[in-house]
Amino acid sequence: MTKLILSKVRILALLLCTAISVIAQDQFDTTVILISIDGMRADYLEKYSPPELTRMAAEGVRARWMTPAYPTKTFPNHYTIATGLYPGNHGLIENNMWDPQTGKTFSLSNRDAVQDPIWWGGEPIWVTAQKQGLIAGAFFFPGTETLIEGMRPKIWKAYDGKISNDERVDTALSWFDLPRSERPTMITLYFSDVDDAGHSFGPDSEETRAALLKVDSAIKRLNDGLKAKGVDQAASLIVTSDHGMAPYRVRDAIVLDNYFDPSDAKRIFWIGEFTQIFPKPGTEDNIYDAIRKRLPSTAKIYRRSKLPKRFHLANSKRLAPLIVVPQSGTVITNKERYTRAEREGSLDEVRGGHGYDNRDPLMRATFIAYGSKFKKGFTSKPFESVDVYNLMSKILGINAAPNDGRWSRIRKVLK
Ligand code: AMP
Ligand code: ZN
Ligand code: ZN
Repeated sequence: MTKLILSKVRILALLLCTAISVIAQDQFDTTVILISIDGMRADYLEKYSPPELTRMAAEGVRARWMTPAYPTKTFPNHYTIATGLYPGNHGLIENNMWDPQTGKTFSLSNRDAVQDPIWWGGEPIWVTAQKQGLIAGAFFFPGTETLIEGMRPKIWKAYDGKISNDERVDTALSWFDLPRSERPTMITLYFSDVDDAGHSFGPDSEETRAALLKVDSAIKRLNDGLKAKGVDQAASLIVTSDHGMAPYRVRDAIVLDNYFDPSDAKRIFWIGEFTQIFPKPGTEDNIYDAIRKRLPSTAKIYRRSKLPKRFHLANSKRLAPLIVVPQSGTVITNKERYTRAEREGSLDEVRGGHGYDNRDPLMRATFIAYGSKFKKGFTSKPFESVDVYNLMSKILGINAAPNDGRWSRIRKVLK
């Protein structure tokens, strides 16, 4: 009798142990970690050999490059990755915007504007996920501070570039300690160091190399932490960038107000790679003709409706009626800024810029994917940043909202 009881206890104990180990393995649901390394040009992986990203690419997937959306600016492209929509279709057509319907202006440093839902169309992945019962957590990503369709990621942070990369990573890792019912499975992380160094010192500088190595070590910290917590099997890491970086000097700039009278314009966004001019009533033809006649061949002026179709922008009401678009390596500036650089002695300093034609090789973005869902040691043909939203939806097992991505271009990255 006691023997029988003992054997029953043993069987029960065995069953319990098996159940516990199944729970332990099954503890973490499939989790997408979308990481943005702002301004990481596609060729930086070879050029600077960051060890952790190189390992992830070798053991996972990389695209030869990812073609960003036009204009190759930060907010338009992050929100394209998040929504699968071209900027003309999601509304964030530049980092600086004027909305003719409301008269409001948008810029990255304007907190109220960044958090104002009127700018943000389409449906970002964190909203798609939460609408279908998942939880999202963001340690920065453009759009995550704003109520979109009345929703932010359940965990989100107001942007503060001074928060260290380690703190961003450690906080995201701590989310895996939350009870399952509160744990996000769609996570975003954002690092600006590479873009910042690229702007200040150019893409070919030691400073840019050092910035990439710094971000690389933060990503190693993330991978080590995921492994220590036993999340590595459940996690799908997608490392992207929003655009590349091109070197320029102010000495080679086009000083645009030499060619037309800026007082004919209601407003000008003096952005070096994508200058928007809003003419006063009745002055559009004058400004257009004056600039077109004198502009060097390194830049073009377009009327909004005549922008190349492949930019997917011409329908946007927020775009200025006139846009000046230089080739990479050239920036547009004005007399005041040129004179200031001359006075400071910085005319010949190499800087970096982006915003240029998205077909320009210097604007190519990075895509690396790592985790059990992805192929191993696979290099994909280039695809577009609009394609990433469908990939994240697929991995999370949720229905994607209508978008501009093409599944056939990206599906091969999965096993
Ligand atoms: P860009 O002007 O296109 O080079 O934008 C890059 C800058 O955007 C970085 O230096 C960041 O400081 C800034 N940035 C990134 N995310 C945000 C955010 N969520 N809110 C405000 N600024 C941001
Ligand atoms: Zn950027
Ligand atoms: Zn930048």
